[in-house]
Amino acid sequence: MRITLVQGDITVQHVDAVVNAANSSLLGGGGVDGAIHRRGGPVILAACRELRASHYGEGLPTGQAVATVAGELPARWVIHTVGPVFSATENRSHLLASCYRESLRVADELGATSVAFPAISTGVYRWPVDDAARIAIGTVRAAPTRVTDLRLVLFTADAYDVFERTLETEGA
Ligand code: ADP
Repeated sequence: MRITLVQGDITVQHVDAVVNAANSSLLGGGGVDGAIHRRGGPVILAACRELRASHYGEGLPTGQAVATVAGELPARWVIHTVGPVFSATENRSHLLASCYRESLRVADELGATSVAFPAISTGVYRWPVDDAARIAIGTVRAAPTRVTDLRLVLFTADAYDVFERTLETEGA
């Protein structure tokens, strides 16, 4: 698997699947979630509402992932995953790692071989970017997956720099 860092907007990535840092309601939010729904159009929200009406009546649990159509995005699927809110007193790293692992498992189920991830939990959920980068890169490198093109899309130059340093340290 090739891991590429991209600085920019995840909604313009031409990939099989785009990962959304959703919240458990699956009904939209700010940050990446808002951008994906805005650019992807209403069919994504309609698919999320169907999931709420069927398998995920109480919402998508933290650390899990589920796919929908991608609407107008230049991708075939959106894989929604719910990152943990950062806590200084409780170690929730396993839940953040689970988001990456479960998203890749769903990608494999779909047959998606190119996948773009945002830096899950580093926005409204306040996860420190250096620690989030370590968890993201460590987890995707260790994951058993058929994904061959994995992009980590960082919105800011600062986040990109942190991920770049982490990727170098991890011996990419
Ligand atoms: P969370 O609630 O999981 O923290 P956010 O969407 O608030 O999710 O933020 C996650 C990360 O996504 C942040 O680093 C934020 O800067 C970044 N981000 C926001 N919009 C976009 C976008 N359009 N493309 C890629 N990354 C984005």
